[in-house]
Amino acid sequence: GTTAELLYERADYALYHAKARYRGRPVIFSREHEVEIRKLSTIEHTLRRIDLDAELSLHYQPIVNVGTARLVGFEALARWHNPELGDVPPDVFISVAERTELIGTITQVLLRKALAAAHTWPEDIFLSFNLSMRDLISQVTILQTVALIESSGIDPRRIIIEVTETALMQDYEQVQDSLRILRSMGLKVALDDFGSGQSSLSYVHQLSLDKIKIDRGFIRNIATQENARNIVKTVIDLCRNLKFDCVVEGLETAEQVEIINRLGCSTMQGYFFAKPMPQCEVESFIANYRMPDNPRMAAAAG
Ligand code: C2E
Ligand code: MG
Ligand code: MG
Repeated sequence: GTTAELLYERADYALYHAKARYRGRPVIFSREHEVEIRKLSTIEHTLRRIDLDAELSLHYQPIVNVGTARLVGFEALARWHNPELGDVPPDVFISVAERTELIGTITQVLLRKALAAAHTWPEDIFLSFNLSMRDLISQVTILQTVALIESSGIDPRRIIIEVTETALMQDYEQVQDSLRILRSMGLKVALDDFGSGQSSLSYVHQLSLDKIKIDRGFIRNIATQENARNIVKTVIDLCRNLKFDCVVEGLETAEQVEIINRLGCSTMQGYFFAKPMPQCEVESFIANYRMPDNPRMAAAAG
C-alpha cells in the first residue's frame, strides 16, 4: 500500500481472510485479494444504496421426516437479484453485510418476508430462519426480532433460529443472552453446518440448543467412504445422547437418504427432496406433498 489508509485496509483484509479460512496461518495480501476486495466493495456499496425490500427475497427449502413421511418445515434462504450484479449468492452478500452494520437491516427485511410467508402455511409446518452471529451480538437486532415475531401473529414455537458456528464468534455471553431471550419466547435454536468449522463441541457445550444440523460436507462421501459414515453415525448418536433433534442436510441421492435413515436420523433436507423454491411454489408443494403415495417420499421411505 502507498498510503496509510490503503495499507490498513489491506492488512485488515488479510487478517479477516486468515481468521475466516486459514486459522493459525499467515496470509500475505496479494493481487488476487485486491480483486476480491474490489468485488466485495462493489457489493457493499450496492447494498447500501438499493431498495433492500425490493431486491431481496427468500426461497424456501423443504425439511422432511422420512419416518412419518411428512413435510415438517421449510428453511428460508436469502436471494438477491440486482440488475447490474445479477444473482449474488447469499453466503457472499451476507458475509459482506456481516462486516458492516448492514446485516441488521437485511435480517429484518428478510425476517419480515419469511414471517409473512409462514403465516400462509399450515400451522404444523415450521419456519427455519438463519440468523447471523452479528445479529446475536446486537441487542437492537434481537429486540427488533422479538418485536417482529410478536407482531406477526405466528406461534413462536413454529420458528427455529439457525445459527452457524464461526471462527469470528466473539461475545459468547451476549450470544447466550440473545438465545435465552429467543428461547424464552418459545423459539427453538439449531446449530447449523455442524462439523464444518472447528471447536464444534465447545459450541454444543456452551450454547443452549434444541437441534443440530449436520453439515452436507459429511454427506458427500457417505455412500463410498466408511469413515464418513462413521463420523455421521457418531454425530447422530451424540445428538441422541444430548437429547438434541438432529437434521441432516445436503442429501442428494436415494442411497444417501437410505443410509442416513439407517444410521438413525429421520429428519432431512436436500436436493433429493426439493431445491429451494419461491413462495409462489410453496403452496402447491405443500398440497401435493400431503398425498399419501407421493412417489418421492415412497422412494425415500423405502
Ligand atoms: P445454510 O443455512 O447451511 O443453507 C443450506 C445451503 O445448502 C443453501 O445454500 C441450500 O440451497 C444448499 N443446499 C440444500 N440442499 C442441498 C443439496 O442437496 N446439495 C447442495 N450442494 N446444496 C444444498 P444457499 O441458499 O446458497 O445458502 C448458503 C448459505 O448462506 C446458508 O447456508 C446460510 O449460511 C447463508 N444464508 C442464506 N440465507 C440466509 C439468511 O437469510 N440469513 C443469514 N444470516 N444467512 C443466510
Ligand atoms: Mg441454515
Ligand atoms: Mg446448513
